[in-house]
Amino acid sequence: MAEQTTVAERLAAVREQIDAAALRAGRTPSEVTLVAVSKTHPPDAVRAALAAGQLIFGENRIQEAEGKIAQLEAARAAGLQWHLIGHLQRNKARKAAQLFDLIHSVDSLRLAQALSRAVVEDDGARTLPILLQVNVSGEASKEGFDLPGGVASPGLAAFLTEVEQIAALPGLELRGLMTIAPFVDDQQVVRGTFRALRLLRDDLARRLPGDWRELSMGMSGDLDLAIEEGATLVRVGTAIFGSRSY
Ligand SMILES: *Cc1c(COP(=O)(O)O)cnc(C)c1O
Repeated sequence: MAEQTTVAERLAAVREQIDAAALRAGRTPSEVTLVAVSKTHPPDAVRAALAAGQLIFGENRIQEAEGKIAQLEAARAAGLQWHLIGHLQRNKARKAAQLFDLIHSVDSLRLAQALSRAVVEDDGARTLPILLQVNVSGEASKEGFDLPGGVASPGLAAFLTEVEQIAALPGLELRGLMTIAPFVDDQQVVRGTFRALRLLRDDLARRLPGDWRELSMGMSGDLDLAIEEGATLVRVGTAIFGSRSY
């Protein structure tokens, strides 16, 4: 993409790409929600996307998000929402529960318990929507509940037991699953990862009560495949904001 393109133009292109992928898969484009991943980018980048109608943003680090969220507090009234998409340490659970509207990256029973406690203690009337991050690809570097192959994994029974416990925690609202595909060129491997997450979700929805609608999968490089395999939330950074410098 040319450097002179604007955030608004790139956002429009990503939205078109999402719509086209959904239609190709026989899905309704409105079933797929775009999370604009603004990590490492300044509040002005978020403002530019907001001005172009984007309301949901993803961040992966509490400290960075906290400052940005505070600077954009006024836009909350206009519908601005923040999603946590990165690994969360238990000692930051309270802060995360206060800052975010949806946490994609719940990766252990203990983290879910910490979030539950924080939400209940802070505000007995609120519930925090969460997704469970699952490593279905088996890549050692990936965070998440370790369940290589998804429903075919020998760890399925133990996972189900933990999910049942999480589903029973007060203050939390389980909404579905999240995964990150391996960074490989082989499209069949990437597609297989997304499919495994969807089949796992379908299995959970059959076994456990609750709302399992969300499948958070797909990034700048693999969002078409993710949408074809059922993604309801795609997390797109680079294609909207350009490359990141750390
Ligand atoms: C950074 C990040 C993204 C966005 O990645 P891009 O390739 O820039 O679109 C999506 N999901 C997670 C979990 C991330 O950390």
